[in-house]
Amino acid sequence: MTFVADPARYDSMPYRRAGRSGLLLPPLSLGLWQNFGSTRAFETQRAIVLRAFDAGITHFDLANNYGPPPGAAEEVFGRILATDLKAHRDEIVVSTKAGYLMWPGPYGDHGSRKYLLSSLDQSLARLGLDYVDVFYHHRPDLETPLEESMGALTTAVERGKALYPAISNYGAERTASAAALLADSGTPLLLHQPRYSLFDRSPENGVLDAVEQAGAAAIVFSPLAQGLLTDRYLGGIPEGSRAVTSAFLHESDLTEDVLSRVRALNAIAAERGQSLAQLALQWVLRNPVVVSAIIGASSVHQLEQNLGAIDGPELTPDLLAAIDAALA
Ligand code: NDP
Repeated sequence: MTFVADPARYDSMPYRRAGRSGLLLPPLSLGLWQNFGSTRAFETQRAIVLRAFDAGITHFDLANNYGPPPGAAEEVFGRILATDLKAHRDEIVVSTKAGYLMWPGPYGDHGSRKYLLSSLDQSLARLGLDYVDVFYHHRPDLETPLEESMGALTTAVERGKALYPAISNYGAERTASAAALLADSGTPLLLHQPRYSLFDRSPENGVLDAVEQAGAAAIVFSPLAQGLLTDRYLGGIPEGSRAVTSAFLHESDLTEDVLSRVRALNAIAAERGQSLAQLALQWVLRNPVVVSAIIGASSVHQLEQNLGAIDGPELTPDLLAAIDAALA
């Protein structure tokens, strides 16, 4: 069926400014890491992307290696961009990354100029685009001079193949150095993408401060701890869930200790009349340096439930203290 975008899609999304940039992003962004590739039904993937767009989610987060197999998520998204979303390219922020293993040999991994710029060209070909909005160095590479990796991001911007540079998984000190190099080059850092959730608060130990001081914004990944911070595993391990299908979440991660915290948080959320997923998303968004939370969804239903985080009840100091106690 031909897609016709909802004319009301921008009416209620409270877009937030990314640091000191001119770019507004939705508080929830859609990530295409594990649920978008050739192992899932195309129609399900298409339905999730189009529902997100119709709800005002204008930002889609990809990387060269997302799938499975690597590259497949960009191909799927490129297909949707070339058809359903063809008329809407200028309404959409597309992000991609390079930094993990993508092809064999010495030039398909890490942070060299050679790898980053050739990977971006490959991503553009899979996406069917002339440029991406945001291009990330996906993880730090301690053996390549930071000047070289950041210089490659600047070159991507200068060549018009990306509009903004970004980094992911960098520590606090390296974030400050990267931001200083990019500022000197006239292509300031837009975003830092760390993992952040109720179960992983490590960015609070310096990274979020470094991002703020740089005038950039944090956009956080796995805010639901890959599904742990939802009711997904409260009644056992469902068939087809990430704990069963993925190499990145294992049944052994569902320890009694984890599940008892999830139950406690779930009870707090229920008292507020919301789902745990909604509470967990509101929680990462409570800090203004976090411009957006990148969610994964394997169904339209999950996406719709998560959208409810945007207008959830206020997080009071008492509530935040109760959450800390539940996690202690
Ligand atoms: P989440 O923490 O949001 O986990 C998503 C998973 O949680 C879904 O696939 C689903 O699991 C489950 N889920 C989501 N909503 C619900 C719900 N309402 N009820 C029950 N279960 C739910 O994020 P991801 O780990 O998927 O990461 C999000 C994005 O972040 C990625 O797509 C990617 O764009 C980015 N990312 C970046 C990284 C980096 O290094 N920069 C690393 C990892 C991710 P199920 O599949 O079982 O249904």
